[in-house]
Parts: sequence; C-alpha cells; structure tokens
Amino acid sequence: MSDSIRDTVILGSGCAGLTAAIYTARANFKPLVLEGHEPGGQLSITTLVENFPGWPEGIQGPQLIENMKQQATRFGAELQMGHLVSADLSKHPYELNLGKETIRTRTLIVASGASARWLGLPSEQALIGHGVSSCATCDGFFFTGKEVAVIGGGDSAMEEALFLTRFATKVHLIHRREHFRASKIMLDRAIAHPKIELLTNTVVEEVLGVEEKEVKGLRLHNTRTREQCTLPLAGMFLGIGHEPNARMFAGQMDLDEDGYIKTTNNVFTTLHGKIIPGVFACGDVQDRRYRQAITAAGSGCMAALEVEKYMEEHGH
Ligand code: NAP
Repeated sequence: MSDSIRDTVILGSGCAGLTAAIYTARANFKPLVLEGHEPGGQLSITTLVENFPGWPEGIQGPQLIENMKQQATRFGAELQMGHLVSADLSKHPYELNLGKETIRTRTLIVASGASARWLGLPSEQALIGHGVSSCATCDGFFFTGKEVAVIGGGDSAMEEALFLTRFATKVHLIHRREHFRASKIMLDRAIAHPKIELLTNTVVEEVLGVEEKEVKGLRLHNTRTREQCTLPLAGMFLGIGHEPNARMFAGQMDLDEDGYIKTTNNVFTTLHGKIIPGVFACGDVQDRRYRQAITAAGSGCMAALEVEKYMEEHGH
C-alpha cells in the first residue's frame, strides 16, 4: 500500500465521473479517476446524442466523452485503467483495493454507472459474442446484409433498432408487453422505419444456434395467444435496461432493493441511514429515475462541490 493519501478518487469515467473530475481538478484536488470495466461509460457506446445542451446538431457519444476527458486532464485529473475489487469505508482515510494495489483517499466519488442487462437464458449467455450483443454501436457492422432482433421497449431498444437498420436487411423489435416505455419521438421513428417490424407481447424462450456456435434464430412465445414460433435470424441485441454497478459496496453503503446506491440530498451516501462523511455517489449508479447524460453530469458536479466543502471543513 502506498504511503500517500489522495484527496479524492473517482470511480468511473462516464459522464458523471468525468464531470466530477473536471470540477475537483479545477479545485486543485488532483483527482484520480479509475476508468472501470467500461471506460467512458454508456455514452462511449452510443451514437448521436441529440439532447445534451450546447450541441445544436448533436454530438457523437464517444466524442463527448473524449472532450470531457481532455477537459479533466487539462486541469490535472489523472486517469487510470482499473476497477475497484473492494473498499473499506470503515476506516479513514478510506481504502480502495484494486487487486494489485491499495489506494488511500480522504474522499470518494462513486460514479460507477450501470451495465447492460441480459435476459439470463443459458442459450443467450452461451452465444454472447457469437451473434448475441448488448451494443449495436459496437457490433452492428457485423450484421451487414443479415436479419436481426432487438429486445426491449424503451428508448435504448428504439435507438439500437434504428441504428441497426444501417446494416441489417430487417430488424425485429421484440417487446414483452403491448405498450412501449420509449419516448414518443423514438417510438414513432421506429414505427415509421420500413426495415423495422414490431412484435409485441412476445418473449424470447431460447436463442437457437448453441451447437453451431452462432445465432441461427429465436424461439418466441406470444404471451397473449400462447403460440410459439421460430424466427430465423443472425443476431440478437439486448436493449432491456441496465444494472447498477454497486455490488462491491454491499454492506458498506445503503443500497435499494435493485442495488442502486441510496443517496440523500442528491449525492450523500449513507450506511444504516447515517451519512458516510466524504463519500458521494452520482450518475446512473444512484439514479433510477432520470438516467440522462445531462443529469449524470449535473450530479457529478454536485458530488464534486460536496468534496470541496468536505475538504474545506476538514482543513485540507
Ligand atoms: P428502460 O426505459 O428501463 O426500458 C427497458 C425496456 O426493456 C422496457 O421496455 C422493459 O420492458 C424491457 N425489459 C426489461 N427487462 C426485460 C426482460 N427481462 N425481458 C424483456 N424485456 C425486458 O431502459 P432504457 O431503454 O435503457 O432507457 C433508460 C433511460 O435512458 C430512459 O430514461 C431513456 O429515456 C434513456 N435513453 C434515452 C435515449 C435517447 O434519448 N436517445 C436513448 C437510450 C436511453 P417493460 O416496459 O415491460 O418493463
């Protein structure tokens, strides 16, 4: 373990983490940003972001993240590959175990985000990377001239389906209910697209092709008619939401029933309802309601300002 004590460590390099990095770096705390399993977070695997204020024509997600990284490092933020294995928040300075090294820090900003959710079918798990994907932006190109399915009824599913029409001959949008959670504008775009076909009240029972080691189709079940059918296709993309990356804090921080970090006054973390001093959470790991790039950035800013207040109050 190093003797040095960091002023602040930020877990996660998505929109929330990098905004926190910009603010804490400008406050001269030389933040260390641990990039995590999915550097850049969800924006780094999305396409055009049309609703981030300040970009009238929209901006590509990876570019927005790259800009934030440059902005943070310009003021002295340090970015490091790596992720948290475990943390000890029972002693201060807090100890962060990264496997190969342990870092001590006075304050901590948890901005570890949320990761794509899977259906959990054994056949789906066996075929990840062989036709099953949770990232159309990353893998869509491999399905040029082929037929694919997107699972889900929210904005992510709409976005993935629309993106995949660039490559695929046809995109089946499969949703388990009749009604869609997606915003009207996104749903209307999907409905209007000639390559997209909507299948509602339909669940995937099995992904076919495990023996062949590539997706051959889906066995589907209609929950209304109770009919089963097989849909031949080459790829299945998941767009069914995300799981918060907070499991490593179980027992050290209050989490809600779905594993999101519970916060009070926006970004303060608690244990048994009592505030954990100097430990803040921001972005999707604590936000199950808004989950937008701009709200993540906003809460990253709040967490950073609380770090500043904490450091001032403790004479650092
Ligand atoms: P979401 O809104 O939570 O939607 C998840 C969808 O997946 C729901 O339709 C849900 O079905 C379905 N689903 C969940 N678990 C399932 C399962 N096990 N099997 C089958 N279907 C399942 O998540 P999201 O689409 O990722 O969006 C999250 C947030 O990001 C939203 O606030 C959204 O507006 C935002 N977002 C915005 C944009 C954009 O504006 N460009 C793009 C992407 C995301 P039910 O409806 O039946 O629960």
